[in-house]
This record gives sequence, structure tokens and C-alpha cells, in this order.
Amino acid sequence: TVSKYVIGNWKMQARYDQGIQLARDIASGLASLPPLPVQTVICPSYTQLHGVHTVLEKDRLTPQQLALGAQDCYPTPSGPFTGDISAQMLADLGVKYVILGHSERRQNHQETDAIVRQKVKAATAAGLVPVVCVGEHLTERNEGRAASVLAQQIEGSLTRDFKGLLAYEPVWAIGSGVMPSRKELVHKIRLIQALLPMHLMADDVDTPILYGGSVTSAQALPILSVPGLGGVLVGSASLQAKSFLEIIKAAA
Ligand code: 13P
Repeated sequence: TVSKYVIGNWKMQARYDQGIQLARDIASGLASLPPLPVQTVICPSYTQLHGVHTVLEKDRLTPQQLALGAQDCYPTPSGPFTGDISAQMLADLGVKYVILGHSERRQNHQETDAIVRQKVKAATAAGLVPVVCVGEHLTERNEGRAASVLAQQIEGSLTRDFKGLLAYEPVWAIGSGVMPSRKELVHKIRLIQALLPMHLMADDVDTPILYGGSVTSAQALPILSVPGLGGVLVGSASLQAKSFLEIIKAAA
């Protein structure tokens, strides 16, 4: 059974061959360990999905151990949308998870909560597990507005029957080497745990809550021991098989 999720978000950072090699190294590293109660997901760029899927298929690992994820999808199933990729197209390639509403997309592609929610619907309809990212900017945090920003993002981005994962990624912690203190993270996770049932229809809300932002192998253990935390969403440290495998081991 899965107790924690470790998701690697490669972003636009590995060339094709590097990504294939990275997937091979992660898969063989995992295969050399006893089965862990960890769901590992790697999210390469669109262009690497098929190649990485081929690597994963050759392995003895099950998708419950190592699964394929994508970094985004289009909000509608098909149509004249030049350059876009639908959730169904991802599912066709063996993709199981999809990151949605990452702050880099909210910022660089003007993705609103409403757009993210449309994408959640599209992903769910295609059978993918959405991994929805929320998180406040530094000024919002410093002005004491983090709680209301998170409430607004959760209400706006998630459907009421949401079945997926939520990743708390404070924008100021992404790629900065700066992380919330343990005290702050404990507080934020509690806050999100309180916000989810106010919006979701389910009687028992069991949405795993992940943390993302400058997670390193050295920091993984203390972060993963934060009460209620369901795992981590890892950027840079997921681009090295060694550090990513250490994070997976820390989650076990
Ligand atoms: P870093 O781990 O590089 O800070 O990136 C975090 C992130 O944005 C994962 O989605």
C-alpha cells in the first residue's frame, strides 16, 4: 500500500537522451530495492513521454511503484487547437498522472483557477490522476494573505468531486533553495487540511497533500515527517537519479 508519493517534475530541463538515461537509472535503482510503500512518479517533457514509457515497460516495476506523469494538459478533449496536447493523448501514451496549475504555468501562461479546474475535469475524464499545485507568492505571505490565497486557489481550481493529489508549492520556495520552516509547514498543511473539506463534497476527504519547493535529499526526511504530509513534488533534485532515489528512500 502507498503511504507517500514522490513525484519528480523534470520541467523543461532534460534533453531527450538525458531523460531516457535518467528514467533507466531511476528504474534500475528502484528495482534493486525491496518494494517500498511509495508511489514514485516521473514527469518528463511531452517529447520524452513515449521514450520514457518504453523504458518503464521493459522494467519489472509495476506502475504502482514507478508511474509516468505529464506536466500539463489541454482543458478540452479534442479540437482545432494547434500545438496543444489533450489528456486523452497523454493517456494513450501510458501517462497516469498529470501536474496541473503549476505556478510556472499560472505565471507564464496566465492560467487562472478556472482554467486549472477545466483541466482537472479533462484529466479526470481521461482517467488521469490530477496533481494540482497551489501556493502563495512571497508578498502575499509577507502581507499575511497566504491563507486567503490558498482558500481561493483550492476553491477555484478543484472540482467538488476532486479525486487527485494537491501539491502545496509556495512560489517563493520554488528553485530558490529557500524552504518554509518546519513550524510554518506544519501550520500550512493543517490549514490546507482544514480548507479541503470546506470545498470538497466527500464526507471523508482523503486527498493526499504534497509539499514542493527546493526539496533536496538532505531535507527530505525532516519534510516527510511533517504530520499529514502525503509526499513531495521535487524539481531540480529529481534530475539526478542518485538524489531522487535518496528522496524515495526517505519516503519509505
Ligand atoms: P525545485 O525542487 O527545483 O524547487 O522545484 C519545485 C517544483 O516546482 C516542483 O514542481
